Amino acid sequence: MRVVLILVDGMRPDALEGNEKVSRFMSESSWTLNARTVFPSVTLPCHMSLFHSVPPERHGILTNTFTPMVRPVDGLFDIVHNSKKEAAIFYSWEQLRDIYRPGHIKHVLMAREKTYDVRTENVTRATIDYIREYNADLIFTYLGWPDSSGHNYGWMSDEYMLGVEKSWESIYRILEVTDDDTCVIVTADHGGHGRSHGTDAPEDMIIPAFFRGKPFSPGKELDGVSIMDIAPTAAAILGIDAPAEWEGKSLI
Ligand SMILES: [Zn+2]
Repeated sequence: MRVVLILVDGMRPDALEGNEKVSRFMSESSWTLNARTVFPSVTLPCHMSLFHSVPPERHGILTNTFTPMVRPVDGLFDIVHNSKKEAAIFYSWEQLRDIYRPGHIKHVLMAREKTYDVRTENVTRATIDYIREYNADLIFTYLGWPDSSGHNYGWMSDEYMLGVEKSWESIYRILEVTDDDTCVIVTADHGGHGRSHGTDAPEDMIIPAFFRGKPFSPGKELDGVSIMDIAPTAAAILGIDAPAEWEGKSLI
């Protein structure tokens, strides 16, 4: 099977209430609106924990500035590469260049346009075009609009909710080009409150996670999910052994 992992930066579970697209996606997925990210609830530390399945105290990245790991842990992209499989990533936040090692990604698109509406469109279109023309075993697509609007206008503001809605439009467009042999995972790195995030408050720490595809029962609610479970789950779907250092658990 293949995996398409879509991360919506700063997407709070309560921003999804009453959203018709999300309700439909929940009925087709195993899901939780009560997964936990890691502390500090900051973008790069959370992404490092997602892809390396260890907490920040183990990988050592505690801010949005990357520092090399003292005791390196292979991440999801590294084990995909080492298994002779291919990964592609589509993103719009420069610091994510450090979530994989050089040479371990088949294709990278970093959208640098000024505004997040344009970046979201270009990241979405590039993901769709790549799946149609080449495809990969693992595709990671990062959608940054809600976090950007959260910082500028406030979490749960109209502008933030527009970013969430537009992200789900992107998710559905990407779904249209995925086949039955693909598991689509949708999640967030952290939430937010006021105009920021980073604390251990539930508004920052609780994230949604959806798993849609063959190994998962449609409409099933999951419990006790951590952001560190996503890499082991993706590895299991791809048929790759998880490194012994990984602390999260596979959900299949
Ligand atoms: Zn942020």
